[in-house]
Parts: sequence; C-alpha cells; structure tokens
Amino acid sequence: MALKTISLEQEINPWEAQAARFDFAAHKLNLDEGLMKVLRYPTREIILHIPVMMDNGHLEVFTGFRVQHSIARGPAKGGLRYSPDVTLDEVRALASWMTWKCAVVNIPFGGAKGGVICDPHKMSQGELERMTRRYTAELVEFIGPEKDVPAPDMNTNEQTMAWMMDTYSMHMRQTVTAVVTGKPINIGGSRGRREATGRGIMIVCDEAVKKLRLNPESTRVIVQGFGNVGSNAARLMTEAGYKVIGIVEVDGGLVNRNGIDVDALWEFRQRNGTIHGFPGASAEDPAELLVSECEILIPAATENQITSRNADRIKCKILAEGANGPTTATADDILADKRVFVIPDILCNAGGVTTSYFEWVQDRQGYFWKESVVNEQLEHIMKGAFDDVVRFSETHGVNNRIAAYMLAIDRVAYTIRQRGIYA
Ligand code: NAD
Repeated sequence: MALKTISLEQEINPWEAQAARFDFAAHKLNLDEGLMKVLRYPTREIILHIPVMMDNGHLEVFTGFRVQHSIARGPAKGGLRYSPDVTLDEVRALASWMTWKCAVVNIPFGGAKGGVICDPHKMSQGELERMTRRYTAELVEFIGPEKDVPAPDMNTNEQTMAWMMDTYSMHMRQTVTAVVTGKPINIGGSRGRREATGRGIMIVCDEAVKKLRLNPESTRVIVQGFGNVGSNAARLMTEAGYKVIGIVEVDGGLVNRNGIDVDALWEFRQRNGTIHGFPGASAEDPAELLVSECEILIPAATENQITSRNADRIKCKILAEGANGPTTATADDILADKRVFVIPDILCNAGGVTTSYFEWVQDRQGYFWKESVVNEQLEHIMKGAFDDVVRFSETHGVNNRIAAYMLAIDRVAYTIRQRGIYA
C-alpha cells in the first residue's frame, strides 16, 4: 500500500499528515480494523471559550483546546501552545503524535495536546497569566498527575507552567507539583529539562552520524528555529564539536561557513529581540538556507517546513526533526528517493517528554536527581529508542518514520489487547 495522492491543502493539514502515516503503518502491521478505529481518533476533545480581562478593561474571549488522544499506557501527556494559527486539527495531530512518541521511547504515558488561539507577542504578562489560569481552571476535572499532564510548547514556558501548577493547586487546596512538567526547578522542575529536547536531538544525531560513518568535526549543521529546542540543540552540538553553519528564523537566516558562535547569537537575540543584524554571520534568505548544502538539517520551528514544494531541493544527509510535523507525508516519499536518513519527530524530539517523565517521577517521589543522573538516563532511553526504530526499519523494509509509527502502534495496541476494551 502506497501513501495516497492528496491536494496541497490536505498535505499541509497536520491531522492528514498524521493519519496518512498511521494508516500506512497500521496496515503494514496488519492491525485489526476495530483497533485501527480506536487508535485513529482521539478519545476526548475539549473546546473552551476563555474570558480574559484585558489590561484596557475590556473583556476578550479566546478559544482553546485540549485533546486527549489515548490514556491506554498511562496518563495523557503533552504540551500547551499559544499561537494565532492553532486549530483543532493541529491539536488533534499533536495529541496523536504524543501517544506515538511516548510509546517509541517506552515511557508510561498516553498522548494529549493543548492550544489557545491568541497572539502571545501582543499580550502583556498579566493578560497571559489570566488567560493561563482560566484555561487551567476550566480543565480542572480533566487534568492531574494521574489524568493528563501538560508541559510547555510553542510560546509557553516555565512561567506558564508555574501559573498552571498554582491554579490547579488552589483548586485542590494543596500543592500538586506533578500536574505539569517543564516547571522552574525550585517548584518541582527537573534539572536538565530545559535543554532536554535539544540534548535528545544531539544524542540521536550522534547515533545517525556513527551509522552513516560521518565525522562530527566535519559535520555541518543547519538549524531552523532558535527557540527552546533549536537553540539548545545548536549550543550542545557546537560544544560536542559539530559545526553549526546556519540558523533559520522567522525574521531571516544567518550563515557562517566556519561555524556560528551560538552563545553570542543567543545573547544578541535576548538583547535585540531578533537575530537580524548579528555581526558574527552573514544574512541569507531563510527559504534558501533550508535547502543549502549541509550534513544535518534540524527543523526545530513548526509544522510543514519540508513539503512537496521544496523536498526535492533538500541537500542534507540526515534530517533530524526537532519540531513536530515539520515534514509532510508527500515530502517523505521524495526524501526517501533521495536517500535522506530521516530521524522522525516522534523519535528525534522525544528527549523533552522523556525528561518530563523524569520530572513527574521526581515530583511524585519528592526526591530530586542530580543533572548528571537525568542526562545519563536520557541518553540510555534515546539510544535504545534509536536502535529499536532502526532495527524495526531494517527488519520490515520500511523507512525510519514508518518504523517508528509501527513500533509505537504495536506497543499501544498490545497494551489495549492486554487490558481489553470496555466497549
Ligand atoms: P519556541 O517558541 O521556544 O521556539 C520556536 C522558534 O521557532 C522561535 O524562535 C520562532 O521565532 C521560530 N519560528 C517559528 N516559525 C518559524 C518559521 N516558519 N521559520 C523559522 N523560524 C520559525 O518553541 P519550541 O519549544 O522550541 O518548539 C519548537 C518545535 O519543537 C515545535 O514544533 C514544538 O512542538 C516542538 N517540540 C518542543 C518541545 C519542547 O520541549 N519545547 C519538545 C518536543 C517538540
């Protein structure tokens, strides 16, 4: 069975992108039709209309979502994003990807995701706090350490998680740190969580580099998105000896063939709010930089960056997906023809949720680990998951992405069969 031919509109719909890979992998596994129906759709989709008092004294109403795709293997787990472009279909896709991701790294969580349609860059801290608190209060019956555990995602951060934890705790009349992960360290966060997604990317890139017999010192890296994921991946990989030659952001691209000083760029961005004008590199068209010559390309910004429109011009040897859903299903076929070694999102960026799992464990234990312990455990899990996916790919003669889906669907389906379906 080949992936279906679809229109561009369908191609860039994240739900369609998820469903195309799910259907393909489920058929390859010969998953029975009933289970396929169960796993194809989310268990629960919540739509909220959130009133927020704005600083100018007017009431505004924001639309938000929380989608729980599966709780078969444990509490639902997944981030919360704030963006003007959030849609229910996107949140559905992201929730399903969380189920598959947690299963790929074999941690005891299901999948969920949340989003609020808003432009956080145009809102004050007070407005963001009130919106976050009301969103959390509306979800108080549906989230919790044993039910659904949110975390940061695009445009949300440690502060957002602190507000969520506090609001939930006020309703419970006790401090419940394990209700969210990605918190500040002094209120139950984990050491190493901030860098975890970037560190996980570096670990799987190291494995791919070994597999392709490349040498890290002569390995050129281009990173798209200089936020939490992209900046940490770029910094850690520079420290490990890789040469980060390009950074692609919304407001421009930067290139320096001798390597960009990532720490200096981070400070420049903090000071100026943009990467534009950074003296340590030359400006380059962002779309061109994405298809420039390099060994590793790390899209770590948002969905639909590699599509049928540019996939044939991609020149990297390894595509390490830091973002969720950066590559469309149609682009997958083109990359496969070009023999690009793809480290799919549900494996590549799983370092974040893995360390979130450690945070949840530490909160429930009331005992906090040293950073070296966190990083060591992360490395163990990421390396094991990389090996599992590559082995599955070689055994079943499928690409890495389909292998990761097959591995994940198989694990979730096995659990459901063991538990039985309450139908
Ligand atoms: P973030 O908000 O910290 O950073 C995103 C960065 O990407 C920003 O600097 C933004 O300006 C840039 N960006 C946005 N659109 C862009 C575009 N079209 N071109 C170039 N740059 C663009 O978000 P983040 O937490 O780093 O998340 C990035 C991606 O990684 C998302 O897809 C997210 O779902 C995924 N992810 C995040 C985590 C995590 O731990 N934060 C874990 C797993 C996956």
